[in-house]
Formats: sequence, C-alpha cells, structure tokens
Amino acid sequence: MHAVELIERKRNGAEIAPDELREFITAYVRGETPDYQVAALLMAIWFRGLSSAETFALTEAMVASGETVDLAARLGRHVVDKHSTGGVGDKTTLALGPIVAACGAPFGKMSGRGLGHTGGTLDKLESIPGFRVELSTDQLIRQVREIGIAVAGQTADLVPADRKLYALRDVTATIDEVSLIAASIMSKKIAGGASALVLDVKVGEGAFMRTQEDARRLAEVMRDLGREAGLDVVCLLTDMEQPLGCAVGNALEVLEAYDTLTGGGPSDIGELVVTAATQLLALSDLKLDEAAARQRVTESLTDGSALAAYERWVRAQGGDPDPERLPRAAVVRTVRAPVTGFVREVWARGVADVAMALGAGRERKDEPVDHAVGVVCRTKRGDRVERGDALGEIHASDEASAEAAESALLAAYEIGDEPESRPLILDVIR
Ligand code: URA
Repeated sequence: MHAVELIERKRNGAEIAPDELREFITAYVRGETPDYQVAALLMAIWFRGLSSAETFALTEAMVASGETVDLAARLGRHVVDKHSTGGVGDKTTLALGPIVAACGAPFGKMSGRGLGHTGGTLDKLESIPGFRVELSTDQLIRQVREIGIAVAGQTADLVPADRKLYALRDVTATIDEVSLIAASIMSKKIAGGASALVLDVKVGEGAFMRTQEDARRLAEVMRDLGREAGLDVVCLLTDMEQPLGCAVGNALEVLEAYDTLTGGGPSDIGELVVTAATQLLALSDLKLDEAAARQRVTESLTDGSALAAYERWVRAQGGDPDPERLPRAAVVRTVRAPVTGFVREVWARGVADVAMALGAGRERKDEPVDHAVGVVCRTKRGDRVERGDALGEIHASDEASAEAAESALLAAYEIGDEPESRPLILDVIR
C-alpha cells in the first residue's frame, strides 16, 4: 500500500478497495503510518464520503484492531445495549439500564467519557460517591450474570483504532462525517459483543447531525453495519435542539435519572427512557411484543423494581445510591425571565457551553471535571413565563463563575410568541 497514492485517490473521489483500507488502518494502529497522512485521508473522506463497501471495510478493520468480546456466548443470553450519538443533558442510560435489567433482559455496556460539548455516561457515574467504572471484561460479565446490569469504561484493548482516529478527528475538524461516526460507533458496539442495540441518533444544534436528513442517513448506515455483523439495531431519531430533561452537569443528571426511576423527573426523559426500554425488550431474548414490553417497562417504574435494580447496580460497582450523597455545588443562583412570554427555544449548545465553562465538561481528554456544577433548565420550550419567574438555575463552585454564567444562560433562552409544538422522538428506523 502506498499511503500518498491512496490519499490522492480518495481526494479525487475514487473508491478505495477494502483490502487497502484495512491495510492502512492496521499500519496506523501499529504506528507505521504518521498522523499527518491519516489526517489528510480523514479530510479527504470528510469531503468525498465513503461508499457502503468502504464504510464496512473501515468498520471491520477497526474491530480487528483489538480484542473482541462475545458476551452472548459467555453469558448464554442475548445482551442488549443502547448508545447515543452524543447530546446535552442525556442521562438516558442511567435510568434505562436498571429498567431493562429489572424487566429481565441483561444490560451490559461499555461507555465513554464526555468530550467537547457532549457529556459522557462515565463522568456522570463517577459523580456517585465510590462508583468504580474500571471493570475488567471478566468482572463486567460476572456482574451482568449476577445482577443483570453493568456499565464500565471501555478497555484499552477494545478498538484501539478508534481511540487513535477519534483523537485525530477531534483536532482536525473531521468528527462530523456520517461514515466516520458510523464506523466509530458500530466498531465499538460490534467488538463489545452486544446482541441488540437501540441507537439514539440526536438531531439539532446540540448534536453532530444538524438536520433530520443527515441523522436519517447516519441511522441507516449504522443499522446496515449492524445487520452485516449480525446485530439487531433500532434507531430513534430524537430532538437535540434543546437539552434532554432539565439538568446538564454530572451529579445533577444522576439526580434527575434517579427521579425518573421513582416515577418523577421531566416528561421528555420519561418518554425517551420508556420508548428505548420498550424497543430493547422487544429486541431481547424475552421475545416480548411491543405492547407487552411497554407494559412491563411501565410496571417496573411503578412497582419499585427499576429503582431497586439501580441501587443494586450502584452498590455492585462500589457506589452509594443515596441521592443525598451526591456532591452539591457551593453556589446555586436562580436565573429569572427578563420578559413575559413563551420559551421558544433553549439552545442546547448554549446551555452546554455554560455547563462547560462552570467546569462540568472537558475540552481535552485528560482534563478533570467538577461533578457538582452545571445548569438546571427549570423551563423548557413551550413553557409560559412571567417576567421575573425562575427560568433556570446555575450550580457553580463560586460566585464569580455563577455571575459569568448568568448572562450566558440567558443568551441560550429565546422568549417570545408561543412556538409550534415539536415532538421529541422524530422517527424510528429499523
Ligand atoms: N461517538 C462516537 O463514539 N464516535 C463518533 O465518531 C461520534 C460520536
């Protein structure tokens, strides 16, 4: 393989043979191809895209770059998983996992940390005092077998190609390309050994995919990659113009997920969690139809079994499930509506930037996060507010950062005439 010639061909819009793509990725993971040539290829892909055959070859090569786990074979059960393409305030996994486990389907998941404006499940879990996210593959499997649920950080051996490629994409403006996102996500899911997957593809200004058309294309590519690898996939296209739920920030989001498991919590989180759990149960080896799955999911929220599964899960990973033990910010400031009207938008990206500036997120992979800080959007799109009403809350480590966050949060709110309603779940793609 001649790297320059391969980059040139992709730059000119030609197709790369699967074998060449595999060889290129293998050489990169071995350290034989320099970052600058891979960066050039990524940019050529960003402009020219990849065909289905190329995307499949890239995904296969990424899976083959490290170890793979056959969860189904080791557990003797189908293991279901859920993945989101990255959003703001997305604490779905924290409520969904215990519900699915309480309903009798094994839920095993390897998750990631937040990067840029999108949060990561591991950071949220680590805001629970004592919670350990580092589990070996054997520990993860044992825990799923014993209590039905485990969520751990991805081991270094799983898809090392994605680790290297993602870091390079992050600094070369090549994250937001459909085939690259699809290969990145699906390689990890295929290597991680799930049997069925619900993919939450976020659409809007707080997501990688800004339009429904792009999101649908991404969903279809991921579904097809799953199908080729024998993995059942259902994709939900969901709104990410505004944050999901009210809380954005690690411990604040855990608290909101806990509320959801007690039957409370914001209605949009409840809707998404119930829909995703229903789809997962329908895909699981319990073989429930959708109506029976939805009924079982709803019962787990009212009979306390989902909450009990959450508590078992958190304790199994060393954490304290009592929500009173979550870290709290030193300063809580209420942000009030400057005018009377309807909330027309709560721009997700703006809210994420506020949370990030408060310390809830990280720009670079190795930066620490402050688990206690963040934003709670007490009002959402369509809510009526009077001048002076509480719009939201800022949870900050000190007065100066709370002060700076106030005007930024106000800038994320648009208040005016009543907006047309917009559904949370925009489409379901199978
Ligand atoms: N999430 C991933 O794991 N990879 C991407 O490329 C984008 C979102």
